[in-house]
Amino acid sequence: MILQLANIDAEGSSFKGEDPIEAFEWVKGATDIVHPSGPLKWKLDVKLFGSELFVEGEVSAVFSGICSRCGEDMTIDVSEAVCFSEEVSSQMSEVDLTSELRDAILLALPNHPICGVDCEGFCPTCRKPLSDGADCGCGDDQWPSPWDSLDGLLE
Ligand SMILES: [Zn+2]
Repeated sequence: MILQLANIDAEGSSFKGEDPIEAFEWVKGATDIVHPSGPLKWKLDVKLFGSELFVEGEVSAVFSGICSRCGEDMTIDVSEAVCFSEEVSSQMSEVDLTSELRDAILLALPNHPICGVDCEGFCPTCRKPLSDGADCGCGDDQWPSPWDSLDGLLE
């Protein structure tokens, strides 16, 4: 997001928009669990205090990849609040906020993204995914708890 300083009112201004997916400068790796699949969206309130530009608002983006719990394809929405300031000089006509906005959304990405809160991984018997609370249909939903063998040590 390149902000024209002349467009900021004395009492502050609000801006809403998006940068194309290229703004992520994402270098796709073979081990990526997710990758950006849409634009970098932003909704910002900005105000100039002398040579200090204050920025507050929210960034969001859509990421695609595979669920780290069930292994199914998924799309997740990620959003994050931002609040930062930038030093500007009287010679500047614009300021590029793209790197701050990109960093905020990438830091908000979960380490182990899952397709949804209802995702239960996969059935240990038939290995079918149990995303969205789905039933695998194999009928063997009474698998032993991995902790059961610890009970045997008490006897
Ligand atoms: Zn899942």
